[in-house]
Amino acid sequence: AKQAGKAQFAHYSAGLQASAQRQLELESALGQALARGEFVLHYQPIHRLDAHDPPMVGVEALLRWRHDGRLVPPLEFIPSLEESGEIVQVGDWVLREACRQTRAWQLAGHRHLYCSVNLSRRQLQQDDFVARVVAILDDTGLAAASLVLEITETHLMQDSNATLGALRGLAALGVRLALDDFGTGYSSLGYLKRFPLHMLKIDKSFIAGLPGDAELEVISRAIIGLGHSLGLEVVAEGVEHPRHLEFLRAEGCPLAQGYGFSPPCPAAMLERLLQDGAAS
Ligand code: C2E
Ligand code: CA
Ligand code: CA
Ligand code: CA
Repeated sequence: AKQAGKAQFAHYSAGLQASAQRQLELESALGQALARGEFVLHYQPIHRLDAHDPPMVGVEALLRWRHDGRLVPPLEFIPSLEESGEIVQVGDWVLREACRQTRAWQLAGHRHLYCSVNLSRRQLQQDDFVARVVAILDDTGLAAASLVLEITETHLMQDSNATLGALRGLAALGVRLALDDFGTGYSSLGYLKRFPLHMLKIDKSFIAGLPGDAELEVISRAIIGLGHSLGLEVVAEGVEHPRHLEFLRAEGCPLAQGYGFSPPCPAAMLERLLQDGAAS
């Protein structure tokens, strides 16, 4: 038994080494991904629910990494980019590419389409972040009002004056700010007062239990109500089933995204959806 244990340990540790090796290889490949043009954006439609046939009014840009013949999802590489600090350059690229693409769609006739981009905490902490956004809007010709930046509660927990200053600067430009994954973190309603926010996004883990889970119903209803009373737009994410949609509409939730409308898709495919749905 001892012998077997040893063999198993050796096997296990070889496995660990192999996986550490793979991790190293992945990180070194990741370091070159930007220069090699391996990042791509997918876009997920955001629909306005108050119309009968909910029109697409916006898109959320979601990052993908084309590596080794597959599209690597963000949760597998963003933490590593955050740790190394490379997320700042990659985030800049994401912002520029999303603004460029959205402006092109606007010029093709979808004039009111807006774009929502996820920010990493590191980006907001750059002293010159607001200036970078100004430069990107200038270069791409996208109006500030067509851009939404998504942050999470952990951004706000840092509570540095730098974060507050950056958010105020962005809001002053006319860029809208969305609080992503609302309700999943250390939510403090004080954030809603202290920071210049324009939108709340109801996390998909809440939507998944609708309707039927009494607590999730109460939470979702409360977030939608908060939005109405504070004058914030509310976006429900993870809308997959007609029953989710029915509930959200009955509660007066203004905006939604999810597989039920469309998964995130490449720009060319999104263009086809735009033509079919004709957001103008
Ligand atoms: P998120 O911002 O909460 O994005 C929503 C995630 O839910 C996306 O996963 C999307 O594909 C997925 N989703 C959309 N509809 C549905 C649905 O109906 N059901 C379910 N189960 N899932 C749905 P994705 O693309 O894998 O992104 C994961 C996270 O990675 C994002 O969560 C965001 O936090 C982060 N991320 C993505 N792109 C960027 C980026 O450019 N910069 C930064 N800093 N973070 C990003
Ligand atoms: Ca998001
Ligand atoms: Ca989210
Ligand atoms: Ca999330």
